[in-house]
Amino acid sequence: MIEENNNVTKNPFDWFNTGTFLLDGGWGTQLQACGLAIGEHPDLWNLSHPEAVLSVAESYVAAGSNVILSNTFGGTRFVLSRHNCADKVEAINRAGVGISIKAAKDKAKVFASVGPSGMMLISGNVTEQELYDAFLEQVTAIGKENPDGIIIETMSDPAEASIAVKAAKTTGLPVAVSMVFDSGKNKDRTMMGTTPEQAVSILTEAGADIIGANCGQGIDGFIPICKRMRAVTKLPIWMKANAGLPQVVEGKTIYSQSPEEFAEKTKLLIEAGANFIGGCCGTTPNFIAAMRKFI
Ligand SMILES: [Zn+2]
Repeated sequence: MIEENNNVTKNPFDWFNTGTFLLDGGWGTQLQACGLAIGEHPDLWNLSHPEAVLSVAESYVAAGSNVILSNTFGGTRFVLSRHNCADKVEAINRAGVGISIKAAKDKAKVFASVGPSGMMLISGNVTEQELYDAFLEQVTAIGKENPDGIIIETMSDPAEASIAVKAAKTTGLPVAVSMVFDSGKNKDRTMMGTTPEQAVSILTEAGADIIGANCGQGIDGFIPICKRMRAVTKLPIWMKANAGLPQVVEGKTIYSQSPEEFAEKTKLLIEAGANFIGGCCGTTPNFIAAMRKFI
């Protein structure tokens, strides 16, 4: 599925247009197992605990991921400023992408993670230009490490996602974008009320190369969303579900689904048209290893 020799792939977009690829799982719980405190910003660990971040990345490569992400989800200046690190956008993002590339070696591709800014356009506390500038700053740093792509993920607002896609496209890298569908009676809308069909339309218009969904709910709810996206696009589809519904036990968030239960559903996601499949919150390298036999 993955070219043995990267030099063979002349067009950076060719390799993912056919086939099914195994993504990674959640990073937060894995980093917490390494000592990351609740409330501590994971991205800061790219500089302070690079060996721990590397161990998480390597655990997903060892589990069989064809594509791993990077520990740069909260790497915009807006998020970093809440941790008094707005001046470290470049250092934190370059370190995070570099760590994943080191872990991936020639065994996996790396899509650098870009998460929401935490700013709400509709509240008026940020302008489109300010958002664009913040995403551009992050993706420019990411681009300097030359990953295989960028994944803009866990997006609730299609307007913010579109701005991030446009910024990411300036790097020349393939750009994936993934929305959270966690609202509405059937959990088939984003927090802003966007349907899967509307998301495909808006994000295709913005220039996305891969479109999908992540987080927000367990894998059962992803199957109809994937089918609906597949019905309206020929682009590769990216799907990363949570490990069931979260329960809070003694102050800790626990996800109930087993790796085997989750992996069984992988078949249904492939039938529904998914091309990139992994896990989000609550999923671990054990989940990815269990999914390996279906992908
Ligand atoms: Zn998640």
